[in-house]
Amino acid sequence: MSPGTSKFPSYSYLKNLITREKKIIEAPSGHAENGVDWFYPEWAADARNNRPIIVRDTDSALGRYNQQTKELGLKDLARVHGHLCDGLVIAYVLLKAAFDHLFNDGIVDRTDLQVVTKNSPCMVDAAGLMSGARINFQTLRVEAQLENIFIVQRISTGQTIRVSLNDGVFPEETDRLARRIRAERAKGNPVSAEDIDRIEELHDQLSKKMLSEDLDRLLTVSELEDYKFHFNDLYVGRGDVINKSMPR
Ligand SMILES: [Zn+2]
Repeated sequence: MSPGTSKFPSYSYLKNLITREKKIIEAPSGHAENGVDWFYPEWAADARNNRPIIVRDTDSALGRYNQQTKELGLKDLARVHGHLCDGLVIAYVLLKAAFDHLFNDGIVDRTDLQVVTKNSPCMVDAAGLMSGARINFQTLRVEAQLENIFIVQRISTGQTIRVSLNDGVFPEETDRLARRIRAERAKGNPVSAEDIDRIEELHDQLSKKMLSEDLDRLLTVSELEDYKFHFNDLYVGRGDVINKSMPR
């Protein structure tokens, strides 16, 4: 009850109470919103491999562990990344598989992960957002040469999972057409609407496949023993001077 002399609660007390209750009802336990939208089609929303991950973070910039968890869904990623694309979906399915192996309780500790990812706009976004790894903390390594593979390590235990897309899942036609479009644009040449429509169609086909087929057919998970995570290979100790004072 609000402080005061009236036996009735004050207007501001009731307003605050209603607002608080409303917030609790709208977000009961951090559930991800998965409704169909113009950028999030029904085939993605309803797909069998589209299940949110459950994450734990900290309360604030200087906060302790959250006491509750929250969900992070594919639609959240599409919204923040800018679109639902095949790269985002591949990353989502692969990273979720890695997390399932690393966290027995099903709760992804986003304070405790470092990740190696391919250098792609979609994969880097997904890896950072889903794992909490970041370039500025030197916990997200971006490798130009890596294919559709992620290496995910729990910092506290050193346990490391490598997850890769199986051969043959990525269609050759998609690869060929994407290379041709990029090469034409790099030369400053235009690309036809038909080509862009076709590549988008192929990307959606791959996304549908990733979200509907058995995981065993799509990806391979393995554990890496004694994996040493290096943020990059640029800063190393000088190797050509270590023996300069050794006897002749
Ligand atoms: Zn993308």
